[in-house]
Amino acid sequence: MRRAVELSDLYLGGLAQPESVRWVSNQRTRWGSCTPGDRSIRLSERLTRMPDWVVDYVLVHELAHLLEPQHDDKFWAWVSHYPLAEKAKGYLIGWSDASRVPHPPADHSG
Ligand SMILES: [Zn+2]
Repeated sequence: MRRAVELSDLYLGGLAQPESVRWVSNQRTRWGSCTPGDRSIRLSERLTRMPDWVVDYVLVHELAHLLEPQHDDKFWAWVSHYPLAEKAKGYLIGWSDASRVPHPPADHSG
């Protein structure tokens, strides 16, 4: 929650004002979600194993939904204020792809 307010001040002109931010373990297909109605943000616990700048991106993304509910140009204009947005998007895409690939066998001799 503290970080969300900092990020809103830094990148969203302080306009996004979340009411609650919490970690959830039941989010398997999304990194985060936002309910603009009660200004609540939920982040997947899978993010806790990722670098802070990736978590910050997801937070900025969800905070931007408090300003623009749709993924339209105005929304992405807000998100792009976060300097590592493109890099973080790539990180998350790579993570998702890698997690679908079977792990290589530990023993290659067979
Ligand atoms: Zn979104």
